[in-house]
Amino acid sequence: MISATPAATSASSADDPLGWTPEEWRTRFASLGIKSAHADTAWAAVHRGLVVDWRASPALPESVRRALAEVDWAVRPLAVVREQASVDGFTRKFLLRLHDGETVETVLMRYRGRVTACISTQAGCAMGCVFCATGQSGFRRQLHAAEIVAQAMHVARILAAAGERLRNIVLMGQGEPLHNYDAVAHALDLLTHERGMALAHDRITLSTVGLVSGIRRLADEGRRCSLAVSLHGATDAERNALVPIGRRWNLAELMDACRHYTATTGRKIFFEWTLIEGHNDGPETAAALGKLLVDQHAHVNLIPLNPTEGFTGRAASLDRAKRFQEILREHGIPSTIRQRRGIDIAAGCGQLAGASAAD
Ligand code: SAH
Ligand code: SF4
Repeated sequence: MISATPAATSASSADDPLGWTPEEWRTRFASLGIKSAHADTAWAAVHRGLVVDWRASPALPESVRRALAEVDWAVRPLAVVREQASVDGFTRKFLLRLHDGETVETVLMRYRGRVTACISTQAGCAMGCVFCATGQSGFRRQLHAAEIVAQAMHVARILAAAGERLRNIVLMGQGEPLHNYDAVAHALDLLTHERGMALAHDRITLSTVGLVSGIRRLADEGRRCSLAVSLHGATDAERNALVPIGRRWNLAELMDACRHYTATTGRKIFFEWTLIEGHNDGPETAAALGKLLVDQHAHVNLIPLNPTEGFTGRAASLDRAKRFQEILREHGIPSTIRQRRGIDIAAGCGQLAGASAAD
């Protein structure tokens, strides 16, 4: 049985400056006898200016730069092992090497005039959803906050080189963000810090397979990111066949947590529904979903199944998807059919597996 408690991880990797808070920078600078104002300058150079060699920043006095040259506080960008671009040019996928040789995938998507970074929160995933390539490949390790931030910075630097700014992030890459809660929350604090990248809270969407304890914690901590909850089934039996975590928290418990989230934060929830032909794309299922969500502040994202090696199901046709959407509308539930993007480079939802360093 999957545990709700993540395997031990620190919220930030102690030796990676990218995971340090501005306060930690000040403390460390103070330990070298350097004023906190210089720590703030350095923080802004790294997090807002996206400067890699921040210790050589001309904004720091010569004497400070000399003192900093003595310590190993280098910001090391993640190396690109492989980069792929989709034929339509809207999606770019990066296989990035973490400092211990582990690899994760990060995606840059252009969709409806928006540029979005799709970021991984774990190497692999322990949740075992049957239709997901990440789930099929199993769990390798938690990512540190610094490694989550580093992925955003990778995309931000590419955009900056083209005169663009990263404004949207979805935590929909590899892994289950709420199974790595502390590191994810810490990364969100860094990414939204007003003197750093200053991403708007509601432009960061956290997608969860439905870890009830984590959803409640997000609500109770007053976190302001957008929340997406992956459903895929409107009855426990149907959902459990696709998403094993449903056996830990059933739909009634999940719906309770979602109501609590909306009541506490005032926010609507995006419910993700992967449409699998003949499985969960029929009119009765749409009606059951409509009933399930009747008292939720909900928007449903319908995602035609993307192909993965370990699952034989097929995507619902567009006609079936539209009919499904129509029935949801009759139940008063708004929905969007997601355009498929990046399928030719396996960068679509649930297709990220990420080769290991040995590949
Ligand atoms: N672990 C989180 C976020 C990563 S998965 C979660 O499960 O929500 C991001 C989204 O992709 C989820 O909604 C997931 O259900 C969906 N997904 C997984 N495999 C898919 C596939 N093969 N086709 C389409 N969507 C898929
Ligand atoms: Fe993990 Fe999400 Fe894939 Fe499920 S769908 S295996 S929770 S990444």
